[in-house]
Amino acid sequence: MSTYQDNFRKITPYVPGEQSKEKDIVKINANENPYPPSPKACKVLKDFNAESLRFYPNANATVLKEVLAKYYGVGVQNVFVGNGSDDVLALAFQSFFCSDKPIAYPDITYSFYPVWCDLFGIPYVNYPLDADFRINPEDYKAANGGVVLPNPNAPTSLGEGEQFVRRIMDYNPDSVVIIDEAYVDFGGYSSVPLTKEYGNLLVTGTFSKSRSLAGLRIGFAIGSAELISVLEAVKNSYNSYTVDSLAIAMGIASVEDEEYFRSTVNKVIATRKRITDELRTLGFEVLDSQTNFIMATHSRYSMKDMFEYLKTKKVFIRYFSLPRIEKYVRITIGTDKEMDRFIAEVRNFLEENK
Ligand code: PMP
Repeated sequence: MSTYQDNFRKITPYVPGEQSKEKDIVKINANENPYPPSPKACKVLKDFNAESLRFYPNANATVLKEVLAKYYGVGVQNVFVGNGSDDVLALAFQSFFCSDKPIAYPDITYSFYPVWCDLFGIPYVNYPLDADFRINPEDYKAANGGVVLPNPNAPTSLGEGEQFVRRIMDYNPDSVVIIDEAYVDFGGYSSVPLTKEYGNLLVTGTFSKSRSLAGLRIGFAIGSAELISVLEAVKNSYNSYTVDSLAIAMGIASVEDEEYFRSTVNKVIATRKRITDELRTLGFEVLDSQTNFIMATHSRYSMKDMFEYLKTKKVFIRYFSLPRIEKYVRITIGTDKEMDRFIAEVRNFLEENK
């Protein structure tokens, strides 16, 4: 006899970094920005007319798109916005990966990609990173139903440049290529200008990292008018209002506050350099990050043990129990004060485990 449970969707979900409500913790496990959002965006929130929420938002988020179009030097028809870049990526997978051929992405990458493939029934193939954790562009020559690559890659923190992206595009004229630029503002190369040259290139971005607005949920995509119109059609077949009125208003203010954006991004980059140097002095191997997090390992200590130790000291970093990166930890760049506490506890760990 069949039961209603037989009809449930069987799926293994993506697991986000732990969110702890404890006081006095150093939370450097989810690649969040340690600085508050732009004061101009915060003022929009303070002055927001809650009564206006009885109206639906503009389904096209037109003004937010216009502001982003101006910022990136593209037309408004080249911009798509959504409820965080996870929403934009999930819609893009459904919009562009409808081939019988597998889509291609690296074996160490954002762990949401396989979850969407399973959810949407998209076949996929993984190409392992090389020994230095680099993506080999030659792998993406093989026939595929699409390509998705984060640049910089996560969680490796390593970025590739224009020549690399051009090679991927030249090998894939018949597939949509998605470049996930969640971390690009922290020093990576952005492929946005290439979207004018390659009609099959979609670049996605987020307000969650460099704009300190992870809780507001704003993501976007930039690509040819053709790609954007397909994304719009799929979005409007699912949920017309993925970006709410408050997110639209605060998002606009955030993009318009370039000075604050630059200053916080530069602070994160400066702290990243200091912490990378300090960890290297302590004998760690640290990958050259172009993101707001670093990947580190130590030949003489277990990173899993260090992760557990730091947890007992209320310093939360991220450990992935996955082949190849199980010897590493991922550390989000926090404020200088938070990172001083992190380094102090790392020193204690090394001392206690000599
Ligand atoms: N892409 C990558 C590579 C990420 O690490 C993340 C953050 N988990 C996202 C996309 C999604 O971020 P958001 O939905 O907050 O925009």
